[in-house]
Amino acid sequence: MKIFCATMIHESNSFSPIPTSLANFRESVLYRPSAGEGRQHLGEVLADIDHLRLMRSRGHEAVVGLIANAEPSAPINLADYQVLREEILGNLQRALPVDAVFLFLHGAQMAQGIADGDCESDLIARVREIVGVRIPIAVELDLHCNVGAATVEQADAVLACLEYPHIDFEARAHLAVDILERAASGASKPYTVMRRVPMLGHFPTTREPMKSFVESLRQREKREKSAGILAISLCHGFTSGDTANTGAGVLVVADGERAYAEAVAGEVAREFWDLREMSRPLRPSPHDAVKHALAAANGPVVIADATDNPGGGAAGDSTHLLRELLAQKVENATLAMIWDPLAAQLATKAGAGNHIALRLGGKTGPASGLPLDVEATVLAVNPQATQKAQGGVFPLGMTVAVQVEGVQVVINSIRQQTFSPECFSSIGIDPRAQRILVVKSSQHFFETFSPFASEIIYADGPQDVPVDHRSYPYRKVPRPIWPRDDIPFDAFGTTWN
Ligand SMILES: [Zn+2]
Repeated sequence: MKIFCATMIHESNSFSPIPTSLANFRESVLYRPSAGEGRQHLGEVLADIDHLRLMRSRGHEAVVGLIANAEPSAPINLADYQVLREEILGNLQRALPVDAVFLFLHGAQMAQGIADGDCESDLIARVREIVGVRIPIAVELDLHCNVGAATVEQADAVLACLEYPHIDFEARAHLAVDILERAASGASKPYTVMRRVPMLGHFPTTREPMKSFVESLRQREKREKSAGILAISLCHGFTSGDTANTGAGVLVVADGERAYAEAVAGEVAREFWDLREMSRPLRPSPHDAVKHALAAANGPVVIADATDNPGGGAAGDSTHLLRELLAQKVENATLAMIWDPLAAQLATKAGAGNHIALRLGGKTGPASGLPLDVEATVLAVNPQATQKAQGGVFPLGMTVAVQVEGVQVVINSIRQQTFSPECFSSIGIDPRAQRILVVKSSQHFFETFSPFASEIIYADGPQDVPVDHRSYPYRKVPRPIWPRDDIPFDAFGTTWN
């Protein structure tokens, strides 16, 4: 088969102080075949998916269109979104005729001036116009998706990764190709049903009860294949996107009787809803998180600065946890990374081994807290630092480590979530030798830090990735919704209690 593939990934945070344009994609990953731009990204593994390799391994020809990925931030401006969209549509036009289309999208990408901000629905509807009703379209999403109705109507198969951290993008892509193969051969006529679940929450799958729930869905997918159920996915929702589609849900891809697929989606939706209490924020303040970490017998205790996670669209320059480490006079602690290009530049100019007065962090907005004025010693400078994340290698930009009293702080110039211990080791710090490690990440750090962490603490804070969804200034999120509204209530044709 000849399969057209394209990748467009941006998780858009309505509350983020970081604006988004094509420049954000150029800083991360942008391959535009029509302009010959970013050719080095063709064949790059992105979130463990390399379309060329994947399709070839299945005996198919892949025509790869746009590959675009940027760190989460505010919704993109309309003109630059249109550049991305028209690139995909133009690539597809030139690739015709094709047997199938595979789109790897985020599911929570927003653009200014697009209905409900919903880029995925806007794009998929236009792809459908080009290929017509006979060519199957499969869409793989990040589970942090706020899925619009048109996405489900216009694509044949919509599925998401099941794991958070997202370690199964490639396995789910293979499932999507299974579905496309049967559809393109005429053996199957897949469609997708969606059931919305009125809740806002965080649902890491590394702990119970989500761990077992996800495993049960995987088993159910296998068991129900003969009954025409091809894929079952959970939408966790992206709660920093303020849209009419925001919230949790269930996606079922089926090719049998629609009533049965809807019943399965309804059952899974109810089971997911029943697990909602696990996402209640039992998270200590920065003060309590540091106090608790200091009481641990062994290190390193990892404190996740979950609400200042650049991977959710926060700035990554908040000073709340660093301030606490200094206030509690912690020795042998390291924090990575504070995104502060100016501080990184000044420390680089000062050079390793030298002292410098730095105004550190707290620059992008009120949620970041006030900047910290510190006396620092520059420990190391690395303009080429990188980290591996979800199969790719990402530059951290100008990266420095500085010593401030008993705390080592990693400062960098390309805003990024702390995915990997390389954020410490690439600047000469052994993360295993620390008493406390602070990482700016909500959950993706877990994959690589949990093997050596003595304990993991998820801290709360006032930044831009909400942990307590009751207090956030939403305007468009559908109501009623848990936990903002008291249950029982009626929503999406069901009484939720
Ligand atoms: Zn995600």
